Amino acid sequence: MKKIGFIGLGNMGKGMSINLAKENHKIIGYDINHSTYDYFKDQDVLIAENLNSLMNESEIIITMLPDGSAVEKVWSEIINYSKPNQYLVDCSTIDVKTSIKMQMQAKKKGLFTLDAPVSGGVIGADQGTLTFMVGGNSDVYNDIKFLFEIMGKNSILCGDEGAGQSAKICNNMLLASTMIAVGESFNLGKNLGLDLDKLFEVISTSTGSCWAVNSYCPIKGIGPTSPADRDFEGGFATALMYKDLGLAVDAATETKSKINYGIQTYEKYKRVTENNRGNFDFSNIINE
Ligand code: NAD
Repeated sequence: MKKIGFIGLGNMGKGMSINLAKENHKIIGYDINHSTYDYFKDQDVLIAENLNSLMNESEIIITMLPDGSAVEKVWSEIINYSKPNQYLVDCSTIDVKTSIKMQMQAKKKGLFTLDAPVSGGVIGADQGTLTFMVGGNSDVYNDIKFLFEIMGKNSILCGDEGAGQSAKICNNMLLASTMIAVGESFNLGKNLGLDLDKLFEVISTSTGSCWAVNSYCPIKGIGPTSPADRDFEGGFATALMYKDLGLAVDAATETKSKINYGIQTYEKYKRVTENNRGNFDFSNIINE
């Protein structure tokens, strides 16, 4: 049994922390928004009064926070309260620079660190089927891998510190573009008078098949259950996808990489977010 501090108990952190608790690890959670604690009333998860007490109680600390500035704020504080040999694992999606900067600060205090952003969404977090893209030292990865195996199905050590974040923004840029293409394809099929059930059957078993069609088809009543069936409520917020695309655009600028589709994709998600549809699932891009 490990003592694990879990900071950020939102859409993703909720399921991830509960899955760890189910495997008999002692979980102590913390979130700046105390209303998230309501969910944990009947769960085997303790709540820390503050970050200092969480650090005193934990061998391994996982953060699952919205963005780089939240991670910088929380990590700066917990590094202050830390003891050497504690493990800090950040599963949030943030910019590579902040990730590396915070990990270097932690290492100076004798801590072990990883960046380990995830793919698989809220369903993957709840069901323990996430994919972890990991950056950091291989010994540290091997020490922590058993936790990724509880919270997910796959974990891939992509390289040194920051490599997990790099892999994550490449994956999400591709997913965001694919979802636009899927929407255009189904809209064209509809205008051509096609039965969309039949179109789903064709595409999902043909060369156009992809996760955005086969597992997340953005049309109500077509394919497996997806946020489209709930009028795009829940799921992965458009605003978070827009944030991830911003990270990809910044990274491309820094590395002088050509990402023409990526920039058009970024602009489209920006429009949807700014038109007050940022809280809806990113697949609502089909209506743009
Ligand atoms: P969320 O907003 O639901 O949860 C984040 C939580 O962090 C919130 O409960 C918030 O109150 C808490 N928080 C913010 N600042 C804090 C602070 N200073 N101290 C303590 N707690 C603080 O977001 P989410 O959907 O759970 O996503 C978390 C991360 O995972 C993001 O980086 C996101 O990009 C990434 N992600 C999300 C999904 C998804 O489908 N939702 C999928 C993959 C990756």
